[in-house]
Amino acid sequence: MSDSLQAKHGRIELVLGNIVEQAVDAIVNAANTKLAGGGGVDGAIHRAAGPKLLEECLRLPADEEGRRCPTGDVRVTGAGNLPARYVIHAVGPVYNERYADKARRQLREVHERALAAAAAKGCRSVAFPAISTGAYRFPLGEAAPIALAAAQEHLRQATSVQLVRFVLFSPPQLEVFRAALKALAGPEGV
Ligand code: ADP
Repeated sequence: MSDSLQAKHGRIELVLGNIVEQAVDAIVNAANTKLAGGGGVDGAIHRAAGPKLLEECLRLPADEEGRRCPTGDVRVTGAGNLPARYVIHAVGPVYNERYADKARRQLREVHERALAAAAAKGCRSVAFPAISTGAYRFPLGEAAPIALAAAQEHLRQATSVQLVRFVLFSPPQLEVFRAALKALAGPEGV
């Protein structure tokens, strides 16, 4: 099936849907450095989770400018009223063509760290949105292979994570991820 790829320790899956509805151990939020909520998927997650999520975020330590998580890094909280147990707040890079290499590196890193954080909590299933591809303008066609390769790499090691689900918000987005997953699977396909 084109929407799923089996790796050594777990499976990568693509679905069309809304991240807030995913009944997985952890959902990943495309957050900003302040972790104080925002638009896009961040806003949707906070609305669905209820005020407890924001309260928990605001209790995390902040620097003088109110930043609670640097770009490329993650913080873990509970999930309020969501079906998930944890929210992994992941701060992806804002895409800038002049520093595209740095943005690619940070996008890869933020996926690796989100998966490592999920594994540290013993999560078996994790759902990701397409981090940085909305307001942060990372081209989807470039972001998809980076996100999927990070998931594949994580699942090559021993990990509690058995399912990495990418939740795409529109059919065209899903198509881009499908093509990238097919390329990742190689000529034999899986
Ligand atoms: P960023 O600031 O990291 O770019 P955005 O929230 O603007 O984050 O967008 C990230 C991606 O999440 C976009 O591709 C957008 O289409 C998608 N998205 C928005 N809302 C949801 C949702 N409820 N579930 C899944 N994906 C979503």
